[in-house]
Amino acid sequence: LDIPTNDRDPYTIHYSDHSEGEVQGTAKTLKVDLVIGADGANSRVAKAIDAGDYNYAIAFQERIRLPDHLMAYYEDLAEMYVGDDVSPDFYAWVFPKYDHVAVGTGTMKPNQARIKQLQAGIRARAAKRLEGGEIIKVEAHPIPEHPRPRRVRGRVALVGDAAGTVTKSSGEGIYFAAKSARMCAETIVETSNNGAIIPTEADLKLYLKRWDKKYGMTYKVLDILQTVFYRSDATREAFVEMCADRDVQKLTFDSYLYKTVVPANPLVQMKITAKTIGSMLRGHALAP
Ligand SMILES: Cc1cc2nc3c(=O)[nH]c(=O)nc-3n(C[C@H](O)[C@H](O)[C@H](O)COP(=O)(O)OP(=O)(O)OC[C@H]3O[C@@H](n4cnc5c(N)ncnc54)[C@H](O)[C@@H]3O)c2cc1C
Repeated sequence: LDIPTNDRDPYTIHYSDHSEGEVQGTAKTLKVDLVIGADGANSRVAKAIDAGDYNYAIAFQERIRLPDHLMAYYEDLAEMYVGDDVSPDFYAWVFPKYDHVAVGTGTMKPNQARIKQLQAGIRARAAKRLEGGEIIKVEAHPIPEHPRPRRVRGRVALVGDAAGTVTKSSGEGIYFAAKSARMCAETIVETSNNGAIIPTEADLKLYLKRWDKKYGMTYKVLDILQTVFYRSDATREAFVEMCADRDVQKLTFDSYLYKTVVPANPLVQMKITAKTIGSMLRGHALAP
């Protein structure tokens, strides 16, 4: 990406055109007024604009095709596993993916070297349910844990993993990648007056302002949840115990569904707070 030295000239993108299906590709260039970097956690666009680094977790996942009778178990449920054996600071999962399951785990950067051992941990925990399964794909990839310091620079905006829109606690990134791209595009359509003028850096930053206003609190709460509950086996016991509570279930379910931290009424909120404290105390007694 060649960046112009003023705010009028176009950006020049250098890319390989593979549209004819050839492996080699043809080197081409394209001049554009705006750039949206939607190129994932290892974003080249982010590097080009010196967007700054973020903390990231590393996730490892095996796609496993199960015999039919075992796949039936995952027809309408997904599994989340917690414990030091599967992740010291995140969770492990068995998620159904249409005709197979994804079995994986994630951990923060300092524990990266242990990722294979943690994967062995989740495989061991779910062993009975995965018996006779065939690995069809292995994936390992960073998951951003925070937004980049600079998500808009000049007439370049970052969206999705390139910007760092994955939520803590759940590690949900697909919805937020698509949503941030949509919000960015809508802001561009609006501030360009439907393409009549070229938006400025300030115009693109309007997308960030809207984003942070809509989701800032959700990110903050999920960040706190991860810090509090994923810290040790004792706090995880508390987390698991709390998830049995109907009010907590409603709160978290609504949050996942509507992508916002839905405030409960004050009475329910107080009950949840009391339960949290109780569970935290009991968790220390229950933890192995
Ligand atoms: C193992 C694992 C499991 C996950 N599970 C879930 C889950 O269950 N639910 C969930 O919501 N999220 C999950 N996530 C997170 C989710 O995958 C990401 O947050 C999401 O895919 C981000 O979308 P994106 O479009 O921003 O980036 P990406 O999906 O990474 O897409 C970026 C695209 O840009 C392309 N690209 C990159 N550089 C270039 C270049 N120089 N030139 C041309 N093309 C380029 C890449 O090939 C890629 O296609 C998981 C992540 C991992 C690693």
